[in-house]
Amino acid sequence: MSWLHANGDSGVWPATVYAEGLDLPAPFPPLRDRRTCDLVVVGGGLTGLWTALDAARAGQAVILLEAQRIGWGASGRNGGQLGSGFNWSQRKLEARLGPAKAHALWALAEAAKADASAFMEGAGYRPGVISACLRARELPEYAAETAWMARHYGTAWEVLDAGEMARVTGSTAYPGGVLDRSAGVCNPLAYVLNLLRACLDTGVEIFEGSEVHRIDGTTVATGHGAVTARAVVQATNGYSPWLTDRTARSVLPINNYIAATAPLPNCTFCTDFAVADGRFVVNYFHVTEDRRLVFGGGESYGRRFPTDIRAKVRRNLARVYPELAEVELTHAWGGTLAVTATRLPFVAEVAPGVFSAGGYSGHGLALSGLAGRACAEAARGKRDQFETLASLPVPSLPGGRVLGPWLAQAGMVWGATRDRLSGG
Ligand SMILES: Cc1cc2nc3c(=O)[nH]c(=O)nc-3n(C[C@H](O)[C@H](O)[C@H](O)COP(=O)(O)OP(=O)(O)OC[C@H]3O[C@@H](n4cnc5c(N)ncnc54)[C@H](O)[C@@H]3O)c2cc1C
Repeated sequence: MSWLHANGDSGVWPATVYAEGLDLPAPFPPLRDRRTCDLVVVGGGLTGLWTALDAARAGQAVILLEAQRIGWGASGRNGGQLGSGFNWSQRKLEARLGPAKAHALWALAEAAKADASAFMEGAGYRPGVISACLRARELPEYAAETAWMARHYGTAWEVLDAGEMARVTGSTAYPGGVLDRSAGVCNPLAYVLNLLRACLDTGVEIFEGSEVHRIDGTTVATGHGAVTARAVVQATNGYSPWLTDRTARSVLPINNYIAATAPLPNCTFCTDFAVADGRFVVNYFHVTEDRRLVFGGGESYGRRFPTDIRAKVRRNLARVYPELAEVELTHAWGGTLAVTATRLPFVAEVAPGVFSAGGYSGHGLALSGLAGRACAEAARGKRDQFETLASLPVPSLPGGRVLGPWLAQAGMVWGATRDRLSGG
């Protein structure tokens, strides 16, 4: 069974806190005939929407095919944290790629954040994300990195000591952290729907319930129709990497889980900032405008979600907030994202005229827009940003298309086990 259908929520948005109170659009009809256009986009998450919007703004005829609903995938159900930069520190990027390339990448990621911010109306965007460190001995490293970034990239991150962390997060789990006020947190589904409206206003044709089963040259086929275009962008992230061979060898799907508490009227913590910690399997959380704690963490590597997502998330939540160990969790859901061998995004022309982007490894809220736009530009011959992203070191998963996912999963399980052994 595919990742698209493994968890029984086909065709409807999952019951997240994000969907509540939003004006959700009626379904778009499925594709039922043969069509032609300039660009066909497969997948209606942030990557696909940004691809489609960019191409339509450039005057192209664009068709977007989504297997479920727009934003049904990771984009509409994630932790909402719009982070800075990439999964590698800038220092590491500089060491590997040289300062000029690392600076160019940073500038692109900053622009992606700014572009996303323009679509945050009604999405409750709030600036400020704290990277929390797990051990006191790590704090000097966090402080040195903060000073280095200020010197070389002009950032204004703030180092927080144990007392400040306890005051802001209401938890004594973290001996320190770094606050980045240029990052932020939002309702990701509201952000997606704002982008959807922009796509419609610009003339993008949207089909939902239209799962693509095959990409053949620049023709894509669903169960009931097909689109032939001058170019194709595969924006399926963790759900259908198998559609093109190179994507399947580079991008590994994983599942991650979130739960939300009932409103905590007396809650005073995390009302200003969101938090993501330094575990291999990151815990991340924020408090919504109506004072619910939205807590994410815990992964699994098979297609199916566990039967009791609440229990899985509660274990991690209780380590950070022992006093909330028994709190009522009104919502709980899982989602599929994708990682790569180096945790940097996979952006490539995987066959002539077929572009693919994904594997943002938890940084997709900002980087998906960047990658989507770069693919749209490359498809019409403007390749500078695309080449910058495509040159990121993202080797195929060791073991190839068949063994690769198993070996990579073994590595992920080992990382998660290290988290547990170290008590993090
Ligand atoms: C629980 C969770 C928490 C996360 N938290 C954060 C966070 O706080 N910050 C952050 O930056 N990132 C986070 N991420 C990652 C981020 O959500 C993703 O990187 C990003 O949304 C990827 O966008 P996308 O459009 O590439 O993929 P998706 O949003 O998954 O979209 C892919 C779309 O393609 C469709 N599709 C797939 N196969 C086909 C097919 N064959 N035919 C047609 N359509 C198809 C799917 O239905 C889906 O709608 C999180 C992810 C999860 C799951």
